[in-house]
Amino acid sequence: MLFSCVIDGIRNRYIDMSHQAVDSRFFPTSVGLRSQALKLKFVTLETKGHFLKPDFPIKQVMKIFESRFNTELPDPIFHQDYIGETLSIIYSPFYVDKKIYDAILNHPINEDLPEDFDVSQLAGGVPDWKIEFLSTLCPDCGWNLEGERNSLVLVCKNCESLWRPDKKGLNKLNFAQIPMKGDDIVYFPFWRIKADISCIQLDTYADLIKVANLPKVVQEGWDQIDFHFWIMAFKVRPQKFLRIATNMNLSQPQEEIVPELPKKNIPVTLSLPEAVSSLKLILANFIRPKKAVFPLLKDIAITPKSCLLVYVPFKEKHHEFVHPSYPISISKNHLALAGNL
Ligand SMILES: [Zn+2]
Repeated sequence: MLFSCVIDGIRNRYIDMSHQAVDSRFFPTSVGLRSQALKLKFVTLETKGHFLKPDFPIKQVMKIFESRFNTELPDPIFHQDYIGETLSIIYSPFYVDKKIYDAILNHPINEDLPEDFDVSQLAGGVPDWKIEFLSTLCPDCGWNLEGERNSLVLVCKNCESLWRPDKKGLNKLNFAQIPMKGDDIVYFPFWRIKADISCIQLDTYADLIKVANLPKVVQEGWDQIDFHFWIMAFKVRPQKFLRIATNMNLSQPQEEIVPELPKKNIPVTLSLPEAVSSLKLILANFIRPKKAVFPLLKDIAITPKSCLLVYVPFKEKHHEFVHPSYPISISKNHLALAGNL
């Protein structure tokens, strides 16, 4: 999801694009719709073929995408962020027989090649990497960890712990829930983040009332309640992302939390770094007046200090999940589209 802060507000768009990772004029610049339409398989040591070595930096690719999107936006762009990115290298098959053929369509993709064209001269070879497997036994108690196919966090139901895999192994994750009674309750994971914010005063709930110009009178004690960012730890589509996150941040849940795992929950599919990268955007969406604050966005630094994964209860209705007291609803259709259900 690409979000852009411009003079009339925040624009968003959903991006699923590809760009050639080998800088060669003989091959198409993208795989088009194939990355969405065709079934992909992991490349393993056994996969046959000559795999060209990617040599076109991703940063340059992103610049190409950005310049394409930004021509549609009004100037100036005060702030831009990608949220929920997934980056993959996709290999598309070709073969050479005087011409280069698309190996899926069996169709030549260009005119005759120069006499001296030799694909083996292009850097690459057989795959020299493999998928590494990580044991999914709970490091604390040895029980089997569980997780959905797309989950970023694994659960030990024996000792009620959460584990986040990284390159070195499994890291224990602090979590809590806002308990609520009822059979129709489903818990949604949120990253609750305490951060230092430069340039503006936003440390407490009382500060939030002023910064967001909320129609409330600051009550005694509100200057003692810490302001936290609340960002979804699950994926939703761009237009919903801003709305849900903003309403959650304006609601600032104060209910008691307990360090227990809820029985029925939505898996964690948006990582903490992704959530952190969205903080400035969420701030930009609730801060008032926008026209005065947007030009300052580039100078505002948000530094996360601590984080807790909090499961927030929603009531399950026929087509959607509704928060019992905040103005937040999440449609089931929407969750499925974003790959959560
Ligand atoms: Zn355990």
